[in-house]
Amino acid sequence: MTRLIVPMTSPEFDDALDDLRRAAHFGADAVEIRLDHMNDLSEEQFRALRAADGVPATWLLTPRSRDEGGVWDADDMNRVSRLIELAPYASLCDVELATWERSANIRQKVRLAVSRLDGDAGPRLVLSAHDFRGRPADLLRRVERMCELTDCDVVKVVFFARHISESFELFDLMRQAPKPIIALAMGEAGLITRLLARKFGAFGTFASLATGKESAPGQVTIAEMKSLYRWDAQGPDTAVYGVIGHPIAHSMSPAIHNAAFETCGVDAVYVPLLIEPTYEHFVDFLRHALERPWFGLRGCSVTIPHKENALRFARQRGARIEPLAERIGAVNTLAFRDDGLDARNTDYAGALDALTQTIGCERHDLRGVPVAVLGAGGAARAIVAGLCDCGADVTIYNRTAERATKLAAEFGCTARPNDERVRPDTRIVVNATSIGMHPRVDDSPLPAERLRPDMTVFDTVYNPIETRLLREAGEIGCRTVDGVAMFVNQAAAQFELWTARPAPRDVMRRVVLERLER
Ligand code: NAP
Repeated sequence: MTRLIVPMTSPEFDDALDDLRRAAHFGADAVEIRLDHMNDLSEEQFRALRAADGVPATWLLTPRSRDEGGVWDADDMNRVSRLIELAPYASLCDVELATWERSANIRQKVRLAVSRLDGDAGPRLVLSAHDFRGRPADLLRRVERMCELTDCDVVKVVFFARHISESFELFDLMRQAPKPIIALAMGEAGLITRLLARKFGAFGTFASLATGKESAPGQVTIAEMKSLYRWDAQGPDTAVYGVIGHPIAHSMSPAIHNAAFETCGVDAVYVPLLIEPTYEHFVDFLRHALERPWFGLRGCSVTIPHKENALRFARQRGARIEPLAERIGAVNTLAFRDDGLDARNTDYAGALDALTQTIGCERHDLRGVPVAVLGAGGAARAIVAGLCDCGADVTIYNRTAERATKLAAEFGCTARPNDERVRPDTRIVVNATSIGMHPRVDDSPLPAERLRPDMTVFDTVYNPIETRLLREAGEIGCRTVDGVAMFVNQAAAQFELWTARPAPRDVMRRVVLERLER
């Protein structure tokens, strides 16, 4: 079992007790007592903490040195003496490999501490090596060394990742090391080493008690590990999905897809995949993932700035590419199947579904319907392509006229000057500009006097959910479609492609609304 370990860093007794109880409440398998942070507590106070009700049973004692990320200037002897003193309250302790190798005297004292640990079964000594600058050149040598040492029960290697692809070597170690191992890449680029540690059978991973209580860069909270990233549901066969983008930290996709997997009982987890904005980085990540079948990558959502890279990749791999995705020039969904790769664009499908569901019609009913699309950027492009494919009579209005003209020429529709918005016979208005988006919520892309009650008004902006455009349209009786509907539909289409099951759209919409209301 991979232990979910929560570091304890509060230097005051009452706060430490509170933290310990909260860690137990959230379901931590173990706590790491960071002695470098908590050194002012007396032995009596540690005894009281250990004996208190509702605290986790497994303690890992760590007197971390400053050289390896600790906050304590004490010399090795002082740190190890404290370890000896407090060892009876813990069942595991962590000492840096560098400290261990410093002298025979230190090793003797560490052995004494280990002999005083509580319990007599199971792993006791974690030897660790941390590098906050990047992957150390001698990473594998260090692992080998720790594996050779008979005193070492658990190997721990941690370094700061510059690129997500550096994570794969750590997954290899989790699977192949001859001893139990904790292998982590710090920073956002290494996040998947934390989130997927259980799938690959690591000895443990670390999660913070709360935001602001991280003991290393990139730690997510235990609540997120459990509820957002499906920690308890992960096993060796769990399929991996993710969203590729840069930046990606604020994506709602992990929340929406993991909730859908949970609801439908799908053995899968969905993670953020921060990939530098070049084609080489994009391909590098997928190459690493796909050459390891046991990694279990079954699908990706792709967002800015990688949608064109995804299409290029799909072409190079001879994928089955949806024709409209080819014409749009962007792929936002990849599905890796045993019989090859599928590449789709669910953005246009999400938008069309949102419209047709609201109007109560089929896509073919849009043939000949006059539609005004405001904007000519990435979202507009997918929507124009989808509408033109259905035969709608599309007119594009955009601040930068050349962009509108070019887009219209590509898809065989019309561009009109922006200040004309909109043709009198328009039945559907789509805002695909960012006007009205938070924080400029008082802006609208279309003056209210241009709206008529028989129009359907669709705003792709979803923050806020009700934009000024939608509010004014609703006030005069228009049918309205919000951006959340499009967002949920594009994710639902991905879910259905990946799992061949109906997507739980209500759950997905609820998750998005909860996130937006935070
Ligand atoms: P984009 O490629 O940057 O395009 C932005 C568009 O907005 C361009 O047409 C731009 O006109 C126009 N625009 C921006 N600021 C403007 C201003 N002050 N006045 C007039 N026009 C302005 O962005 P995008 O990816 O297409 O995204 C556009 C909107 O769609 C965003 O609000 C985004 O949230 C939304 N969206 C929603 C979903 C969903 O699932 N609901 C998905 C994707 C996007 P110029 O060409 O003149 O610059």
